[in-house]
Amino acid sequence: MLCIEVAVFSPLPGCFSYSWPPEFGEPAVGIRVQVPFGKGTRIGVVLRLSDTLPDSVELKPVADRLDVSPLYDASRIQWVERVRRYYLASSGDAWQTALAWAAHDQVRAFRCPDVAVLAKAAPALAAVFTSRRALSLKTIAARIEPCALRHCLNTACQAGLLEEVLHEPLLQQNESIPAALTLTDAQASAVQMLVDARGFQPFLLFGRTGSGKTEVYLRAASESIRRGGRVLVLVPEIGLTPMWIARLQSRFARVAVWHSALTERDRLAVRQHLAQTDILIGTRSALFLPLPDLAMIVVDEEHDGSFKQQDGMAYSARDMAVLLAQQLDIPIVLGSATPSLESWRQALAGLYQRIDLPSRIADHTQQIKPEIIDMRAVDGPVSPALLAAMQQTLAAGDQTILFLNRRGYSPSLQCTACGDVPQCPACSLSLTLHRRAGQLRCHSCGFIRRAPRSCECCGEAALMPMGEGTERIEEWLQQHIPDLRFSRFDRDVVTSHARLSEILAAFERRELDCLLGTQMLVKGHDFPHVTLVGVVNADQGMNMPDFRAGERWWQQMTQVTGRAGRGEKAGRMLIQTRMPDAAWLQRIAEAQAEATMTAELELREMLQYPPFARWVRVVFSAMRAERADQAAAAFAESCRAISELMVSGPMPCAMERLAGRFRFEVLLRDTTRQLLPWKLLPVLDSLKVPSGVRRRVDVDPQDM
Ligand code: ADP
Ligand code: ZN
Repeated sequence: MLCIEVAVFSPLPGCFSYSWPPEFGEPAVGIRVQVPFGKGTRIGVVLRLSDTLPDSVELKPVADRLDVSPLYDASRIQWVERVRRYYLASSGDAWQTALAWAAHDQVRAFRCPDVAVLAKAAPALAAVFTSRRALSLKTIAARIEPCALRHCLNTACQAGLLEEVLHEPLLQQNESIPAALTLTDAQASAVQMLVDARGFQPFLLFGRTGSGKTEVYLRAASESIRRGGRVLVLVPEIGLTPMWIARLQSRFARVAVWHSALTERDRLAVRQHLAQTDILIGTRSALFLPLPDLAMIVVDEEHDGSFKQQDGMAYSARDMAVLLAQQLDIPIVLGSATPSLESWRQALAGLYQRIDLPSRIADHTQQIKPEIIDMRAVDGPVSPALLAAMQQTLAAGDQTILFLNRRGYSPSLQCTACGDVPQCPACSLSLTLHRRAGQLRCHSCGFIRRAPRSCECCGEAALMPMGEGTERIEEWLQQHIPDLRFSRFDRDVVTSHARLSEILAAFERRELDCLLGTQMLVKGHDFPHVTLVGVVNADQGMNMPDFRAGERWWQQMTQVTGRAGRGEKAGRMLIQTRMPDAAWLQRIAEAQAEATMTAELELREMLQYPPFARWVRVVFSAMRAERADQAAAAFAESCRAISELMVSGPMPCAMERLAGRFRFEVLLRDTTRQLLPWKLLPVLDSLKVPSGVRRRVDVDPQDM
């Protein structure tokens, strides 16, 4: 009898062994199976086969075989295993993350061409398929005893007794159209370098917004496809996909898109047509789709924090993409106007080849110089200068983007009589007022309550909204520029992919004069008629207790500058702040990017901060503070045995309470970059996490 080792989707470390019933045919590494686990069953992926059954133990048999053929080939399996070891994730967590794209097969549907024939071979199945109507796996499972059902359905399909329903491709397939633009010299040489690359070669494409980076990716991609390869493009935000889809579809015949807002049916459609996809554009999870013949990876806006996954296995999609390119021995391009210091350092060290696109395509306009507006003397959220600029822009028939990285009406409500600020009962965070909905909401855990009329502490009717969110600015605009046609653009308004495309399209068609949005709005969009960008409150985000706060804030502001003046006309950028002398403010300009990054990198080196050191943060959380604290202390103690490793903590996390759980963290710093994360694995394995305590390991943490 055969024995298989399965990475069962669970946080428990290690793989589990099962026996392989011969009725499931030949087993294969890389297929998913359903196995008995604890009191129930779970899904897992087969990682090893062996024909020597350990005699002493009685193995349980596999309950169902989910896939006919492997979802990943050997090199992608090896890649996930490497990633898992780096991020110190359990096999189960890592594989569950990696194969999440395949988890929606409940919507797979089957049709029976001839029930009489099916009845002879599989009477139980035939009893369900009484008509020619297609039935989903979910429906079938509900109607018959679901023993090894997926294997039955798969074999029935292979034998021609059933037909699997194929969905239409999500994006229409069209003719591929050659590019009409003549590349600039800088673009042409960039494209040449990319198409000349053989094997694994990482590039950092460093170019201002509007310098033609996208055009470079497209040309290089088209050459890869011409040679028979496929291309993967990763973008940080779902908000960027409509623009990318439009641009890709104007050029390539077989485009597919992948992001979190796809329905299960959409996902299935993408999977079913993966073999007919030349170019796949998506957010971080698109990295895991097994696009065959992958020949080049593009990571656009590579500095963006959204590439870091926060739940489950805490991975960086950018870094994993580099590993994948290495594993598959193909080139990868990381592009940005404001590269991450991690990538900047790699480029300085010669590990990534840097390609510069120094000037904007539409560079008859001069470099935008941000105008700083001191808000200390201004009443209300918008200064007279910004108001005047908006009115001028409106009169000229041009468009404005207003940026404010806070949704809702105001970030907190405060009683002016006693000073009380309503807090989330489960998190250490003030509740955001959503005035239109009449609610207070926690932006961390989603807690919602009715907004009180009077203070619950002292009873006075003296509650005042403090600070501003997009909803408040919306109200202000309606009062002060009544004829401005505008839309908010934040997660409260953009509730679906359709809504997102709608708003962006209306703005593009100039049916809107202004978009007022959060960070969703600043990334990568190309609106030629935007001549004014206003930053409503630049102070948000600057004073975070995080050594990356400055870098991140600067990246965001510099990206915002890139949104203005992308067309024929020159642009203006107005920044409202109560800290007009802050050092970072003086550096907002794409032309200063190189100097800024190099200076910041020197500082990091002096302080021995990442990327010069490798950090790992381990967070312990529990409903009772002492339990989390004790578990963290025991862990810190074991880590102190590793020489040369700097161990801080346990200490309460910056967000001490989150969704009702108390959180303590231990921060490990390795200036040698040789110890972490490798030396940590035995420590993590040897310490049992006490019941009721959760442990979360974050290698290369982003939010400190
Ligand atoms: P980035 O990705 O760096 O922001 P894009 O590739 O989007 O820059 O280019 C900015 C704008 O310039 C786009 O509207 C694009 O169509 C246009 N563009 C790019 N390359 C050229 C070129 N060689 N000639 C003319 N227009 C170009
Ligand atoms: Zn909360």
